[in-house]
Amino acid sequence: MESLLLIEDERRVAAFIRQGLEEEGYLVEWIERGQEGADSAIRNAPDLVLLDLRLPDIDGVEVCRRIRKTHPSLPILMLTALDSVEDRVAGLDAGADDYVAKPFAFAELLARIRSLLRRASLEPPMRTLTDGALQLERDARVCRIGEQAVDLTPTEFDLLAYLLSRRGQAVHRDDILDAVWGRNETPIPNAVDVYVGYLRRKLAAVGVPNRIESVRGIGYRYSPEQIQP
Ligand code: CA
Repeated sequence: MESLLLIEDERRVAAFIRQGLEEEGYLVEWIERGQEGADSAIRNAPDLVLLDLRLPDIDGVEVCRRIRKTHPSLPILMLTALDSVEDRVAGLDAGADDYVAKPFAFAELLARIRSLLRRASLEPPMRTLTDGALQLERDARVCRIGEQAVDLTPTEFDLLAYLLSRRGQAVHRDDILDAVWGRNETPIPNAVDVYVGYLRRKLAAVGVPNRIESVRGIGYRYSPEQIQP
């Protein structure tokens, strides 16, 4: 199920959007304030953020900027006022992917959401993944902490890249197996757990705190907190 975060302070609008999206089978979290909404988006990495531009504390432009710092490709759909070109331009400048002007027909909102989700699923994965000082360059297959290279085997590299690219999400062992080892390979028993152990030790050896959290009954989660430089 795809998860959407709705950041909107007008309760009637929010209730209308939320109900409609839930009926379409989306999982919707609703937050009224910008600050809290930005924090949630950064921590939970939903599949898409629906963001009202006019919010009581920090505005949608600022929320968008904050989310973009940690999630450069998370789809953000801005809700703006119909008559304000400035609003739309400000939203797009801050990194929103698209906007819908209020008042809108629900069918239009839904079409925009579907289109953004589809586009996101087709996009090639990010070439460089970062967590503070930790950097993974996928093309060169180099892992660094600051200037120091971290020596990872190909499997360890793929595992770290997979978890980091889903930062903040609990990832199931079976999905990790498919993504890292592929469906045709038969890895050693408990391969995921064994390799997570290798990774934790190698990262600890270069001073990186434990970023890979165990999620009971599911698998693992790369911590949403950023490594402090
Ligand atoms: Ca508003």
